[in-house]
Amino acid sequence: MATIHILPDKVANQIAAGEVVERPAAVVKELVENSLDAGATRITVEFAHGGRSLMRVEDDGRGMDREDAQLALQRHATSKIAVASDLDRLGTFGFRGEALPSIASVSKFELRTRRAEVDTGIEIAIHGGRTVHVKDCGMPAGTRITVSQLFGPVPARRKFLKSDTTESAHIIQCVRFYALAHPGVAFTLIEDGRVIFQSPACEALLERVTEIFGKQIAASLMPVEAIGEGVALRGFIGRPGASRSTRHDLITFVNRRPVDSRTLTYAVIESYQASLPRGRYPLAFLFLEIDPTQVDVNVHPAKREVRFRHDPTVRSFVITALLEALRGGAEPKPEPVAPQPVEVRPAIVLPQPMPQAARTAQAGQPAAAGGPPLVRSPTIGAAPPPPAPEAAPVPAGLAGWRFISEIEAGYWVYESPNGLVILDERASLERILFEKLEREFAEGRTESQRMLFAVPVELDPVAAALLGDHLVFLAAHGLEVAAFGRNFFRIEAVPAWLDPADAEPFLRDILGSLREGRLDPAKPAVARENIARLAAARAIAARRSVGREEPAELIAMLLGCERPLLTPSGRPTYIEISGAELAQRFQKENC
Ligand code: ADP
Ligand code: MG
Repeated sequence: MATIHILPDKVANQIAAGEVVERPAAVVKELVENSLDAGATRITVEFAHGGRSLMRVEDDGRGMDREDAQLALQRHATSKIAVASDLDRLGTFGFRGEALPSIASVSKFELRTRRAEVDTGIEIAIHGGRTVHVKDCGMPAGTRITVSQLFGPVPARRKFLKSDTTESAHIIQCVRFYALAHPGVAFTLIEDGRVIFQSPACEALLERVTEIFGKQIAASLMPVEAIGEGVALRGFIGRPGASRSTRHDLITFVNRRPVDSRTLTYAVIESYQASLPRGRYPLAFLFLEIDPTQVDVNVHPAKREVRFRHDPTVRSFVITALLEALRGGAEPKPEPVAPQPVEVRPAIVLPQPMPQAARTAQAGQPAAAGGPPLVRSPTIGAAPPPPAPEAAPVPAGLAGWRFISEIEAGYWVYESPNGLVILDERASLERILFEKLEREFAEGRTESQRMLFAVPVELDPVAAALLGDHLVFLAAHGLEVAAFGRNFFRIEAVPAWLDPADAEPFLRDILGSLREGRLDPAKPAVARENIARLAAARAIAARRSVGREEPAELIAMLLGCERPLLTPSGRPTYIEISGAELAQRFQKENC
């Protein structure tokens, strides 16, 4: 029979570490938060091999004396709260007193610290939770914590780590967030001996945004400032023309803590409902300051989620503030793209509806006056385009479809053999283009168009690293990007169907998918489907002023698709009301 026993501290700590230390970035997060809590004005974060071999955080904060340093490594030792009710008014990042002992239990851990008013510092080394030494040391006032061989003592945990690139991306992201939230603190981030960013203390948030996210993003933002009772919202949001395919650039902070808050995220998305197309997300760097008694941060082990005591109040405050800002700064400024010498409108190449159709692929689409500054060339490594344009099979039963009329913008009404059809023009075009692109990708014959003037793009370090790893893959899909200088790239060729003016936003869409792991070259089918989906959505959205398909052609092309009923993202392309349903609606069964 097993007997009940209390786990030795070391084991308990290793278990608790699972909550706090889920990955290297979590260690960095805890250490940076401690430095900020200690009033640091300068923080240097250094790491190697995605954090697995080394993470070091050094600050000039208030430091610890010998007794405190030893206490800090005990479980539930914290200087930040004393009684449970303190949890209701947290002004610090830390409060559980768990981070240091948990980290020390799963790594080789070294703490060096000195308070300004004493001459000697103290060094404590712990390996896998076991104290190796405690001794005096000389060091500047402040604290330096070095964590090496993370999960060395618990090898099972190592298996769960992702590639160094992924882990390092998380670390970089984490440090960027804290740097963003604390412009008054100088931050330096060093990876494998290379400075990723170095940002001196600055007055203004926009300066920080520029340093960390680049000038292009900073130029697409406008300020927000609103003050209510016990709550304030400050920061920057994207101008309505700037949007993203993911929520990665929608960053929210509550009391300077980067958080995932459904309330905030949805309030931002909702505020943009009228100014952004569906499926696009705004950019935002928003800081909500709220009375600490009105927010609960103690709901998630890694403190990523927060809960507001009065959710609807926060929501309506944020929406009101953003709508106000959007109205004020609404002079529509497009996403900052490098100027192309000629205004180029999209030339969407749609598949031929029927073999006998004599129209060329661009029929009905005016060639841009003066011609775009492009040279058409087959994509690197791709087979030359086939001599004759391919044709969708003639859909059976097409003869039974008759176009009736167009009702409110973009809905077309047909009579079908079964009844009445209402077709969404954009949704249908998305499906048609999506299948065409998928075919082209699969056959390796994506055409690209070379830009006369390459479009420069400045990326943040995480995106830059990701893009750098995928240049060959993207080139094979018509998007040729070359690295030039740290975090800078040039778009040299874009797929033939893309409006060159959309080159930069399209690349950012692609980066969104890369970040979410949806463009893994090892899974080409999934990756291609994703590119085609992004491409179709963007090409169709950009189609604004272009000539339109004939009603009969459109339906023929749609019915020629493999899956004509839905857009690539799953919305219906048309709805059909059968004769029987009509009869029922008119209550004819009684006649
Ligand atoms: P918590 O932050 O929840 O209090 P930690 O385990 O992260 O718990 O830290 C324990 C204690 O160690 C803190 O309360 C603080 O007093 C002290 N400490 C940790 N890091 C630093 C630092 N960089 N500078 C000064 N004191 C620190
Ligand atoms: Mg802490």
